[in-house]
Amino acid sequence: MLCCQRGPAWHGEQKLIILGIDGMDPQLLKRFMQEGKMPNFARLAEQGSFRLLASSIPPQSPVAWSNLMTGMDAGGHGIFDFIHRDPKTLQPYFSASRVEGPKRALHLGSWVIPLGGGSAEQLRRGRAFWEILDEHGVPNTIFRIPANFPPVPAKGQTLSGMGTPDLRGTYGTFSFYTDDPTTAAGSVEGGQVIPVQVENSKVTANLIGPDNTFRKGSPPATELFSVAVDPLESVAKFAVQGQEFLLREGEWSDWVRVEFQLIPVFGNVKGMCRFYLKQAHPRFQLYVSPMNIDPADPALPISTPAKYSRMLSEEAGEFHTQGIAEDTKARSDGMLDDQEYLEQAQAVLAEHRRIFDAEFPKFQRGVFFFYFSSLDLNSHMLWRLTDAKHPGYDAALAAEYGSALSGFYQQIDQVLGEVLPKLDEHTTLLVLSDHGFAPYYRSFNLNTWLLQNGYIKLKSDANSNQNEPWANMDWSGTRAYGLGLNGLYLNLQGREGHGIVHSGTDAKALMKEIKEKLLGVRDPQSGLSVITRVDIASEVYSGPYSQSGPDLIVGYNRGYRAGWKTILGAFPPDTLENNNNPWSGDHCMDRDLVPGVLLSNRKISVGAPALTDISPTILAEFGIEKPKDMMGRSVFQPDSTRF
Ligand SMILES: [Zn+2]
Repeated sequence: MLCCQRGPAWHGEQKLIILGIDGMDPQLLKRFMQEGKMPNFARLAEQGSFRLLASSIPPQSPVAWSNLMTGMDAGGHGIFDFIHRDPKTLQPYFSASRVEGPKRALHLGSWVIPLGGGSAEQLRRGRAFWEILDEHGVPNTIFRIPANFPPVPAKGQTLSGMGTPDLRGTYGTFSFYTDDPTTAAGSVEGGQVIPVQVENSKVTANLIGPDNTFRKGSPPATELFSVAVDPLESVAKFAVQGQEFLLREGEWSDWVRVEFQLIPVFGNVKGMCRFYLKQAHPRFQLYVSPMNIDPADPALPISTPAKYSRMLSEEAGEFHTQGIAEDTKARSDGMLDDQEYLEQAQAVLAEHRRIFDAEFPKFQRGVFFFYFSSLDLNSHMLWRLTDAKHPGYDAALAAEYGSALSGFYQQIDQVLGEVLPKLDEHTTLLVLSDHGFAPYYRSFNLNTWLLQNGYIKLKSDANSNQNEPWANMDWSGTRAYGLGLNGLYLNLQGREGHGIVHSGTDAKALMKEIKEKLLGVRDPQSGLSVITRVDIASEVYSGPYSQSGPDLIVGYNRGYRAGWKTILGAFPPDTLENNNNPWSGDHCMDRDLVPGVLLSNRKISVGAPALTDISPTILAEFGIEKPKDMMGRSVFQPDSTRF
């Protein structure tokens, strides 16, 4: 064991390495360590420290990582859920960032010439720890931390992660081309099914790019591609903007660059995508990934300095820039099966590991933060293959793919194996996750429950087929509504567009009443409580944005989560239903049931560390006093030892 005394100021030699492992679960980690699958984690836990790390309220990734990076809760950074709403119009939107086309424009024929460029706006508030490190001259690299798109101006090297859109400005829209008339054409969740004809063994179709805000009506920009399908063999030849490649059935292409022309000559944007020939015969089935922003020539800002993303692609090859790169939606929609989803998810982790292998050896001084998404997305998708109690469990699939999740954990252990030999007396290591994981067996449709309990009133001519959020609401008789994965809002007078609940004692009494009723909800199937924790925002949040999120935060019991449709304001007929979606594990629950992990090569002295302690810990390592609005404290004693 090496030991050293830590001075109060940064002398230029200290190093801090942080591995941010989204969704690493303490119970799974312990089990895999006991099974001998994670020898490097076992060594770190034994010789250093291994603690639970309290997550955020609610324990959703954008909220949790914002807690980590600002040292504040949602009242300080303003991110309460994946989904927020405009209180006046009640339109939902993604909470972390907003992408907009040019605001002012000159109309000329069918062209609309912008007078100001399109923009992307980050909605997270509060200062991130690396902004403070920059002020004190501490060098840093921050790879793909969530809720940092577009990246805040920084002196160090940062690449944006979760929250980064694809080239269409969405959070990932795949395309699925088929001549199979039984596959319905049109939009599916996270994608689009595009019907094609195979004529003389040839398919011609359009790749879909961003909405062309330069054209009237903003139609999407498109680029033609063609596929020559071998009439006998299961192989096809693709031609995309002068690039040609062959794919066998079941084969993925490399990244293919595509340039979309928005205005002739000077208005082009570059994207890239991967093709997967699912089937050549008898029906043609082609999956094309979401059109990612090209890191070599990004259409929107994704890194600091701006050239950093290009440098990474030159050093480590092309990579997904889209925030959530694993195509979970294509799996949930059935366009990819488990094998195909896993191939795509493996490719994402392989890219991250290539970048890690290129960047980590260069790290000399300051802070190196590296984020891995794999355990989170793959725990979401693969849980049903590891848990016979899950309604989506399938014994045959479990036999084939049941070990895939532990395989991803083992790969993260291999990454740690590259880090441990580099630790010296000047280096502190933190390995942490934003939350753990739990099964998602059953959905609770919060809005259906609110309707059945008289808190929501629908219009008398309500049409249950309406897809538009809130299309059927009678706001004049609605006192509360659910939105997002854990949010419950009062329909408050003066805040909501058609608010009816008076703030003050009326609101308080209503919150108390709803909270008590929710805590009493039981699942008749299991007899279990569905909701184990309900927080009143004013009691758990502090900071300038405390009032702008939900009024109540609903914490589900292990096994339960808000239903898929209730999240955006729909009313499925049943309050409780089985979750048969391949998305079968989750963590948007009671935060005490899904803590994350915190491991270090030093002794952690704080009894119950939380995400909000991480920024103060990072700053303390470099002798920087934490700003007053940061909530936590360093998890280390000043003189704690390292191994
Ligand atoms: Zn997640």
